[in-house]
Amino acid sequence: MSYQVDEKGYYGRFGGAYIPEVLHRCVEDLQENYLKILESDPFKREYHGLLCTYAGRPSPLYFARRLSGKYGCRIYLKREDLNHTGAHKINNTIGQILVARSMGKTRVIAETGAGQHGVATATVCALMNMPCVVYMGKTDVERQQPNVKKMRMLGATVVPVYSGNMTLKDATNEAIRDWCCHPSDTFYIIGSTVGPHPYPDMVARLQAVISEEIKWQLKEQEGRDYPDYLMACVGGGSNAAGTVYHYLDDERVKIILAEAGGEGICSGRSAATIQLGREGILHGARTLVMQDEDGQIEEPYSISAGLDYPGIGPLHANLSETKRAKVLSVDDGEAISAVFELTQLEGIIPALESAHVLGALPKLDFSPQDVVVLTVSGRGDKDMETYLKFMTDSN
Ligand SMILES: *Cc1c(COP(=O)(O)O)cnc(C)c1O
Repeated sequence: MSYQVDEKGYYGRFGGAYIPEVLHRCVEDLQENYLKILESDPFKREYHGLLCTYAGRPSPLYFARRLSGKYGCRIYLKREDLNHTGAHKINNTIGQILVARSMGKTRVIAETGAGQHGVATATVCALMNMPCVVYMGKTDVERQQPNVKKMRMLGATVVPVYSGNMTLKDATNEAIRDWCCHPSDTFYIIGSTVGPHPYPDMVARLQAVISEEIKWQLKEQEGRDYPDYLMACVGGGSNAAGTVYHYLDDERVKIILAEAGGEGICSGRSAATIQLGREGILHGARTLVMQDEDGQIEEPYSISAGLDYPGIGPLHANLSETKRAKVLSVDDGEAISAVFELTQLEGIIPALESAHVLGALPKLDFSPQDVVVLTVSGRGDKDMETYLKFMTDSN
């Protein structure tokens, strides 16, 4: 059984490309060309060259001794927080800007929520001297000022979006609208394993460098190239897809995904899409969507701005449906405790998103010989204001 995308762009019943007529030609172009480009020697050389000399790869696989002691197993942290721009997102944007260039596109657009994908996109656009427009909900523009300033300093135009709740979903709608108006010269750099086929597969392949490195790094340190558990947080699913990519069909490896429970699954303030979502169509793909009886999108909530998306990658919807992955929901409070725990045990301040997968550790039963690889998707600098609110004498 393969959990990879099929030739029509589906993972089981999820995926596909549900797009307006005006985009057919350019999405079809991308479908026909992306694999040829990704597998070509010039692309591979430039992509891996930049990952190494610009983004700082390979990222370390760090044996977390004190954290391992606490949970009674052997925990390795895959340090995506050490990448340029502070998260795994740069792996994807470096790849997509090279795809854009080889397809002759001259303008880049992107959507962003917390601003991390916007910064990673503005960064590679500066690097490649391409004009860049980033759509961002007005609410997010206000609460993520440091990232807005970084994007502007990098030369991108940040367009505030005033529709809906003025957050990520609305920014994505606006980016798709822009794309519909400029399909021939514009490349849409999507920030996660979401959107119409081939985006989920393209983004998963560009993040797969994570599991490619885990293989040889584990072999070096543990003497075997596979762990017993792989763990990652899921917003749209890109750092998780990269973490599991080369192990999808290796059933010796258990996959644990952590989604944002917000204030609790039943609280009405949650972003646990896999647990709460029903099948629907969002941003070009059939997947699990948080929606009401009438199919109206329900506004997701999480303390972490990078995880509050009302959909989920079709790959992950299928991994959950087929029970290949176990999905846990971790709420705001559990994530915050995990931030302080990692900081104090290992001297690493993780991003709020990454804290959600750390918060899943207490929910699992490990044996002492279990090898666990957990991806720390990003660093906590951007979340310091939130963390300071939770600082007490006891932590
Ligand atoms: C954006 C982001 C995420 C969530 O996105 P995925 O596509 O699910 O990986 C997780 N962690 C960090 C640090 C992020 O910036």
